[in-house]
Amino acid sequence: MSRAPVPALGQAGPVPPTQTVSKPAPSLGPYNAMSRSDRKPVLGLLLSAHRRHASALVATAIAGAMVLLLAGCGPKSAKVLALSGATMGTTYSVQVLPPRADVDPNALQQRIDALLAKVNALMSTYDPDSELSRFNAAQSTDWFAVSPELVELVDVARKVSEASDGAFDITVGPLVNLWGFGPDLRPDALPARTDIDAARARVGYHKLHTRAEPPALRKDRPDLYVDLSAIAKGYGVDRVAALLESEGLTDYLVEIGGELRGRGVNGRGEPWRIAVERPEAGRRSVFRIVPLHDLAMATSGDYRNFFEVNGERYSHSIDPRTGWPVQHPLASVTVLADDCMWADAWATALLVLGTETGHALAESRGLAALFISRIRARGTRGAEDQYPAQATAAFEHAAEDATQ
Ligand code: ADP
Ligand code: MG
Repeated sequence: MSRAPVPALGQAGPVPPTQTVSKPAPSLGPYNAMSRSDRKPVLGLLLSAHRRHASALVATAIAGAMVLLLAGCGPKSAKVLALSGATMGTTYSVQVLPPRADVDPNALQQRIDALLAKVNALMSTYDPDSELSRFNAAQSTDWFAVSPELVELVDVARKVSEASDGAFDITVGPLVNLWGFGPDLRPDALPARTDIDAARARVGYHKLHTRAEPPALRKDRPDLYVDLSAIAKGYGVDRVAALLESEGLTDYLVEIGGELRGRGVNGRGEPWRIAVERPEAGRRSVFRIVPLHDLAMATSGDYRNFFEVNGERYSHSIDPRTGWPVQHPLASVTVLADDCMWADAWATALLVLGTETGHALAESRGLAALFISRIRARGTRGAEDQYPAQATAAFEHAAEDATQ
C-alpha cells in the first residue's frame, strides 16, 4: 500500500444506526475449511452499537451468516437495496442506494453472482478445475498461461510478502493443508516435525514468478502450491464494488466474509459505520465503531477458524517462517485501505508478524491498522480475558468520525 487511506469524514448531526458486520464463521467451501470450533456456530446479535434510534432499528440476520444489519427507518431514510448470497465458502452481502428507478434488483444480483463465480473459477483451491488449481496441479515448471486478473493478484501478494519479510506468503498452502485449514481433511493430531519441515521446503514466494504479457505464472518446483485465501475475499469485494460503480451506483456497502468496502452514504445519508468485533470465540460484541467512507476494511483473527489441543489454540494464520500457526497474544488485526485486497493481505501479514513487529511496520508504512490482543488476567471475578488494543496513527486518523 503506497499511501495512507483517505480519512473518513463524517457529517455533523444525530448519530445514525450502526452497521454491524460480524466475521462469519467459515463454512466448508472454496476458501475456508470448517474448524472444529466452528461446528456449532452461535448466532449472536448485537444491538449495543446504536445510540439514539433504538426504537427505529430493524435487525435482519442473513441466514447463517452472522451478519446483523441495523437499518435506519426514520423519516430521512432512503430505500436501501440489500442483496446477499454465497461465495468463496462464506457469504456476501451488498447494500446499495439505487439512485434511479431503473436498477433491477434481480438483474443486478445475477451480475454480481456471475462476477463472483468467475472470480472463484480463477482462484478457488477447492475447485479442481479453477485456473489456480490447474496451475497447482501442473507438474511443469514452464510458463503456465492464466488470466491477467490472477497475475495481478499474485503481484499484489508478492509486494505484501516482500514488505512483510515473508510473513505473508501465498505459497504457504502445503502448511495450511498440513495443519488442516485447507481442502484436505483435518488431521487428528499435531503434524510431525518431519512433515512440517517437508511442507516448509515447498514454501517460498520467490519460487513463484509472474509474467504480464502474455499473462502467465511459473513455479520453480512442480509441487509449489498457491493459496489465495488470505487476499481473495478482499479482491472479490473490490470487483463487486467496481461492478456497482460501472452501473453508476456510488452509495454502497459490499461485504464478503467480513471484508468490506463502503462508499458514499447509507439510507440515512450518513457514512456507513462498521463495528470491529472483540476477538472472542463464541460471543459477539462490539470493540469499536469505524466509519467507512470511501474506504475498505479487512480483519484477520484467531477467534473464528481454529482448533485446540491441550488448551493450546492453533489458528489458521500460519507463520511461513516457522511452519507453525501463529502463537502470540495478538488476536485480531483490522486494516483500513483504499482497496480491500490490500487491506485483506495486510491484515493477515500483520497478524502473523504480531503486535510489536506488525505495529512498527504498519507505522513505518503509514498503514491504518488496529491490533487487538487477548490476555488472560486476574480480574475481580477470577481469571478473565482482557483485550488491550493498539492503533496506528493512520488508523486513528481514518477512523475519526465527525458525527460521534
Ligand atoms: P479470514 O479467512 O479469517 O478472512 P485471512 O484473510 O487471514 O482470514 O486468511 C486466512 C487464510 O489464509 C488461511 O485459511 C490460509 O488459507 C491462508 N494463510 C494462512 N497463513 C497465511 C500466510 N502467512 N500468508 C498468506 N496466506 C495465509
Ligand atoms: Mg487476509
